Amino acid sequence: MRVAIIGMGTAGVSILRQLEAHSYFSELDIDVYDDPQNMGQGVPFQNDSAQLLINLPSKDMSLNAHDASEFFNWYETQNQFKFDNATYLPRFVFGHYMKSYLEKFNQQYSNIHLITEKATEMYLEQGYEENARIQYFVCTNHQQEACRQYDYVFLTVGTMAYHDPYHLKGLKGYIPSPYPTYETLNEVDSTDDIAIIGTGLSSLDVIRYVVKHHPNLPITATSRHGELPSVRGNMIDITLRHITKENFESILRSHFGVVPLESMIRLFKQECEDYNIPLQELINRKVGDPIKDLKYDLAHPEILGVFQSILETIKENMNWIWNSLSLQDQEVFMKKYMPILKANSNPMPPRTARLLIEEISAGHVVIKKDLADVQYKNETYIFKYHNQVEPDYFNVVINATGPKTQLKDLDDDDAFIIDIANRQIVQPHPMGGIQIVPETNQVISPRHGTLPHLIAIGQITNGINQARNGVNMIVRQSVQAVKSLYDFHEQIR
Ligand SMILES: Cc1cc2nc3c(=O)[nH]c(=O)nc-3n(C[C@H](O)[C@H](O)[C@H](O)COP(=O)(O)OP(=O)(O)OC[C@H]3O[C@@H](n4cnc5c(N)ncnc54)[C@H](O)[C@@H]3O)c2cc1C
Repeated sequence: MRVAIIGMGTAGVSILRQLEAHSYFSELDIDVYDDPQNMGQGVPFQNDSAQLLINLPSKDMSLNAHDASEFFNWYETQNQFKFDNATYLPRFVFGHYMKSYLEKFNQQYSNIHLITEKATEMYLEQGYEENARIQYFVCTNHQQEACRQYDYVFLTVGTMAYHDPYHLKGLKGYIPSPYPTYETLNEVDSTDDIAIIGTGLSSLDVIRYVVKHHPNLPITATSRHGELPSVRGNMIDITLRHITKENFESILRSHFGVVPLESMIRLFKQECEDYNIPLQELINRKVGDPIKDLKYDLAHPEILGVFQSILETIKENMNWIWNSLSLQDQEVFMKKYMPILKANSNPMPPRTARLLIEEISAGHVVIKKDLADVQYKNETYIFKYHNQVEPDYFNVVINATGPKTQLKDLDDDDAFIIDIANRQIVQPHPMGGIQIVPETNQVISPRHGTLPHLIAIGQITNGINQARNGVNMIVRQSVQAVKSLYDFHEQIR
């Protein structure tokens, strides 16, 4: 069976690992696609500053669904990278751990082929005879002769390009993406005034690099709300007792096949009550002063850790939770509850929080809220705020607003996704990304219906997999997807 994996970051490598673990592996012929730089490492875990840390303790994040400490054990046994504090290792180390598997497999097996180019087009062919199987053609370089034929395709292309909310792309001094952070200052003069748009996790990444390497401080990080992510507390194992499949099934039966949002929120509150979480206090704890907010989180690691653990466990189960809601309730959830979920999940390591407090206190970093607009005039960026009469002026702007989620917002940077949407292989999901079957990750095409052998995993599925694209969740989806591939292989061999 001919298999393609398009995109060799976390999801792609994870799929390959699952494929390799099976006794029929040698009966597959596998092409993997990515550019030479990202092949095996992906974007979040590419080579970058050692200050950028993974957001889970090193012992809790791995590509092995049965052994969360596999990455840490790999780190301990290799000699290339050593750090004094290995509790949260740099992200690029995780990238090398992933890549080590790709390199090992590539040397060991002749049925894996690395194609160090990005896919540019994909199209389908289906014969007219009964039960004709769809064949997938993946092309590179816009050349028809560079198209290869497959029975099974994994679409694991990662995040879409970054938002550009103020339409600044292409202007001098505008850096459209913060990664790799160590390249953000390549074209920047030492006297330039720098602003970062966004105050989320990628903003923190770039703040830490710029503050260490740029002499003209302070740097300003700004957004509409000006809120920093929360700080990781002491996480615990959680078993959900109220948000369970059984409870959801019983609600579905009595509510015409959906779980009303208020029922879900009631069950969530019961989960929190079981752990004595002061819910109102925690969700309203931010006072708008970044130092006070960071210190609060650092001072309450126990209760925050439990709260974050509940949210993390919910995220792990988000496929059936999210897809039990009606579309209308999903929209309400996005407006009312998603900001709370986001603000309290994917927290920063405590070490990063302490460093930020130091830099803000020293006057090296300014966090500003109420950003209203950014304009470009006379080679200067003018930042206007709702709460400030005079604008701020900067020469350089680093965009850390996060990746786009809706297909309608894409531009040439995501030409491949636009291409497959244009060929009606994929279609937008109203909540973002593309339509897939939640349980199996099979793509739902507007032209061909459900495509059982075209599997999408990762950020491109964000409408269905809301908040469910961390490493461990991707690995779980990969296990399931590869099981389906071998079930099919078993039928046809
Ligand atoms: C900055 C950042 C930090 C994160 N940190 C963590 C963390 O610490 N822990 C955690 O659990 N999660 C983290 N995440 C969440 C993260 O999204 C996932 O963990 C994971 O890396 C995503 O895997 P992926 O395979 O979907 O994307 P990626 O790992 O980015 O892989 C996608 C790959 O597809 C390639 N590609 C794109 N288009 C094409 C094409 N047309 N043809 C061929 N190849 C293509 C890209 O080059 C890339 O290599 C982080 C996310 C970001 C953005």
